[in-house]
Amino acid sequence: MTISLPDGNTLDVKKGTKLLELAASIGPGLARDAVAATVDGRPIDLRQPISSDSRVVFITPKSPESTDIIRHSTAHVMAGAVKDLFPRVKVTIGPAVDDGVNGFYYDFDNDRGFTDEDLEKISARMNEVISQDIPFERVEVSREEARALFDKMGESYKLELLDAIPEGEKVSLYKHGNFTDLCRGPHLPSTGRIVAFKLMSVAGAYWRGDSRNKMLARIYGTAFFSKKDLKQHLENVEEARRRDHRLLGKKLDLFSFSQSVGGGLVLWHPKGARMRSIIEEFWRRSHFDYGYEIVYTPHIGKAELWQTSGHLDFYKENMYAPMEIEGNPFYVKPMNCPFHIEIYRNQLKSYRDLPLRFAELGTVYRYEASGVLHGLLRVRGFTQDDAHIFCTAEQLDSEIRRCLEHTFYLLRAFGFESYDIYLSTRPEKFVGTEADWEKATDALRKALEKQGLAFQIDPGEGVFYGPKIDIKIRDSLGRTWQCTTVQVDFNNPERFNVEYVDSNGQRVKPFMIHRALLGSMERFFGVLIEHYAGAFPTWLAPMQAVILPVTSDCNEFAQEVRSTLVSHDLRVAVDDRNEKLGFKIREAQLEKIPFMLVVGKREMEKRGVAPRTRAGEDLGFMPLAETVDMMLAEAAWPERANVKEV
Ligand SMILES: [Zn+2]
Ligand SMILES: [Zn+2]
Repeated sequence: MTISLPDGNTLDVKKGTKLLELAASIGPGLARDAVAATVDGRPIDLRQPISSDSRVVFITPKSPESTDIIRHSTAHVMAGAVKDLFPRVKVTIGPAVDDGVNGFYYDFDNDRGFTDEDLEKISARMNEVISQDIPFERVEVSREEARALFDKMGESYKLELLDAIPEGEKVSLYKHGNFTDLCRGPHLPSTGRIVAFKLMSVAGAYWRGDSRNKMLARIYGTAFFSKKDLKQHLENVEEARRRDHRLLGKKLDLFSFSQSVGGGLVLWHPKGARMRSIIEEFWRRSHFDYGYEIVYTPHIGKAELWQTSGHLDFYKENMYAPMEIEGNPFYVKPMNCPFHIEIYRNQLKSYRDLPLRFAELGTVYRYEASGVLHGLLRVRGFTQDDAHIFCTAEQLDSEIRRCLEHTFYLLRAFGFESYDIYLSTRPEKFVGTEADWEKATDALRKALEKQGLAFQIDPGEGVFYGPKIDIKIRDSLGRTWQCTTVQVDFNNPERFNVEYVDSNGQRVKPFMIHRALLGSMERFFGVLIEHYAGAFPTWLAPMQAVILPVTSDCNEFAQEVRSTLVSHDLRVAVDDRNEKLGFKIREAQLEKIPFMLVVGKREMEKRGVAPRTRAGEDLGFMPLAETVDMMLAEAAWPERANVKEV
C-alpha cells in the first residue's frame, strides 16, 4: 500500500497500518505531535487504520484544523465528567465553536442548571481524566446496536440524534473511559493531549435552538495545546470585555437603544453623532477625490421595484411587511441598488458617460431575529456606505483597481493596517456568461495582486450573480471584522435592462459593481470603539481637549483659550466646575479626551497652558500660539488620497 505525504515522499506500508504507527515510522517527533490526520482530504483519528493507497497529511497543533479537534475532544471529557458527577443529567450535543471567547460547548438536560461550584467540580474531574491519559476509541456499530445502547443508558436525546443520521451513513461511537458518545469524530488520540482548558460560563439554550423545546443548560469552555496560549486567550477575552462597544458606548455616552423604539434600532447620542458626522465628511471627501457622485434616494419603494430587482422572490424574509399607499404596496428598502439603477436609467447613457459612480450613505432596514441582535454589530436599521459603479468592459479592470485603492486608503486612515482578504469565484448556479465571470474574476484577482496583499480564493463561494472580494479588518486585539465587499453583478443589469450606447451605436449592457467599503456606519463605529478602546485619535474624538482652570480666578482666561481654539475649528470645552484639579483630570481621562489644558495663575500670567495627554503625560508650559499649532497638528485629518488616474 502506498502512502503519499505532503513533502512529495511516498511510503510503502502494510494494509491496515494505523495512522499512529505511520506517524511513528516517520519520526518520534511527529508521533508525539500529531493530533489527527487527513486521509485523502478526510479528517480521521490517529487510531484508525489505513486500508488503501492514500494521501496522508498529519494534523499537528500548528495546523488550523487542530483547534476544533482539541476543543471538541475536551467537550467529550467535560460531558464524561458531568455524567460521573451528576449521573441523572442527560447529554445532548457538544460541538466546537469559535465566537472569540468560547471554543466549545455541551448542552445538558439538567433541571437545576449548573452553579459555579459545579463548574469547579467538573473541572477537577476533567483534570483527573486528562492526567489518566485515556484513549479516545472509535467504534462503528449498526443503527440497532447504537439504539439499544443509548436506550439502556436513558439518553433520549441521543436516540433523537441517531434517527437524524441518514440511512446508509455509518454510525460511529466514541468512547473514553466509561463515557460513550454518538459522534462523527475525529478526536485526539487520548485525553492526555489536552494541555490547557477552561470552563468559561453557563447559559440556557433550547434543544435544537427552538423555543418550543426544553431549555437546556449549556456549559461553555475552551482548550489549547499550551498553557501559555490559554493564558494569552483569557487575557484577550478580559481585554475584549473591557473594550466591549456596548459597555463603552454607554460609558462614553455615544449611543443607546430604547425598548420604546425597538431592538436593533440605534439612537446616536450627540458625541457619537459628532463622530459619525466626521466619519461621513471624511468619507464624502474621499469619494469626491475618487471620482464618485453623491446621490440621495428614498427609504421606501413600490412593490413593483422589488419585484423587478428580485428581492420579493429571493430576499423577502429579510424585508419588513409592506405599507399601503393609495392602494399600492410599498416596502422599506433592504438595499439601495434599485434606486441607483433608476438614477442611471433616467436618461439613455452613452459610452462617453461611463464610468458612472453613484455613492450614498444609504440607510436600509433588514429583518434580524431579536435573539441575534448584538449592539452596533447586528442591527435592524443601518446606513451602508454604498456605491454602484457602471462601466464598460474595457473600464472594468481600472474601476476595480480604483475601488481597492480607495478601500485601503479609507481603512488605513481609520487605523486598520491588517486584513484577511477573500476572493469568491463562480458557484454552481449562476447567471451571466462564463466569459463575463472569467473577465470579472480576473479583474478582481489582478486588482488584489496589484495591492500586493495576500488573499485567499474561496472557489465556488461567489453569489449567484457575480464574483466578489470580501475584506475583514484585524483590530488591535487581532480579531477580524467583515467590512468591505466589492461585488460584480450580472443580474441587475439584466433584470432592469440597464444599457448604454457603445461607440458603434449599439445598445449594450454595462458592467455593474456594488461596493461598501466600511460596511455600515453602525458596524464600523462599533469596530472603531473596540479597536481604540474608546481612546479615539484626536481627529475623530468628539471632544479634542478640555480646559481645566485651577481656580475660579482663571475662568476668564480659560474662556479666552477656548474661543481661540474654537476659532480654529477645534472641539474644546472648559470644565469650570468648582472641583479639585485632580478630580477633573481623572474625569477627563475616563472620558478619554485626548488633551487636558490646565490653566493656573502661572499659565495665565505667561498667557499659555500646561497640556497633559489622556495617557498621563505632562507636556509642561506651552504658550497659547504654540498650543494652537500643536492641537491643529494632532487634530489634522489623515492625508488626502493621492488619486492617480488608474
Ligand atoms: Zn465527538
Ligand atoms: Zn448594491
